[in-house]
Amino acid sequence: MIPRNKTGNQTRTYFTNPLELLEKLHLTAEQMPFSAEAIKDFHFKVPMAYVDKIQPGTPDDPLLRQIFPVHQEVELVPGYIKDPLDEANSLSQPGLLQKYHGRALLLVTPACAINCRYCFRRHYPYEDKGHLWKQTAQNIQLIKDDLSISEVILSGGDPLSLSDSKFKELITMLQTIPHLKRLRIHTRFPVVEPERISDKFLNILAASQLRIIMVLHINHAQEIGSDNQKSLLKLHKQQITLLNQSVLLKGINDNADTLAALSETLIDNNIIPYYLHILDKIQGSAHFEVTDFDAKIIYQQLKSRLSGYMLPRLVREIPGEKSKTPVTF
Ligand SMILES: *Cc1c(COP(=O)(O)O)cnc(C)c1O
Ligand code: SF4
Repeated sequence: MIPRNKTGNQTRTYFTNPLELLEKLHLTAEQMPFSAEAIKDFHFKVPMAYVDKIQPGTPDDPLLRQIFPVHQEVELVPGYIKDPLDEANSLSQPGLLQKYHGRALLLVTPACAINCRYCFRRHYPYEDKGHLWKQTAQNIQLIKDDLSISEVILSGGDPLSLSDSKFKELITMLQTIPHLKRLRIHTRFPVVEPERISDKFLNILAASQLRIIMVLHINHAQEIGSDNQKSLLKLHKQQITLLNQSVLLKGINDNADTLAALSETLIDNNIIPYYLHILDKIQGSAHFEVTDFDAKIIYQQLKSRLSGYMLPRLVREIPGEKSKTPVTF
């Protein structure tokens, strides 16, 4: 574990070495072999608050499996490619993605609080770290010129990787766009690194005239604990709409019991289940695949158990479509 990275005047701690994590969890490299090759391109990075929720001595822990680099990641599997969403072709220019009507996706940083092994951006051709940020003012000008855009989606990476001062600068720039009504923030920070939701950060959000929607990414109820519940409540009290998207992942949440427990935990924390994504076929993630056949069975079971508002929409992304595509039966 090494302390690094200063944001909002807080020093954060991450695990960046799988062996140190194993030691902390009372596991050996024989029980949990990791791939050094897998972390060459896509680094190992796990914040403390997330590690605290992993059950020690449990190789199958659903949180551990999301972040642990295994040898399957470096195996090439037919159909699993580097850019299955064809995002390179949807880029208006570096850092700006516009696929759907009325919404522009602004990539402001390649950095995340946590590196999820199934990430669909793990091979994204991000250049140097500051590159996206340097592009931002220019991208905002393009959004200003397009009157059809009423919602900006901040994504990345994770937009909360930006320092408070940069985040404030960003919101200030966005507020100069008269036709912009909503700001959506896609982030895992409130859950995996809840201390990021400082009073200073909350004040920046509170000062904004934009309607703010935060889309979290939580795959398992075990990711929620007393620490991040406090941060989530602060966001809720700030009148921020909280939604959640999950990815359906083999060995992590691929059964109706786990997904029902997740939905209930979300609702208990003022978060509305939004999407349940079919995994994108990104190179290195094939071992997380849940087949369509299984996905449909799981989803039908889930549907028969939950109140309608607790049921996320099961969707996949198909390049060239005008929206996420519902998976139907
Ligand atoms: C998923 C996505 C959105 C948001 O879609 P919603 O269905 O509104 O959540 C917007 N832009 C891009 C490029 C996306 O991939
Ligand atoms: S937080 Fe999101 S963008 Fe970042 S590594 Fe995880 S899945 Fe990818």
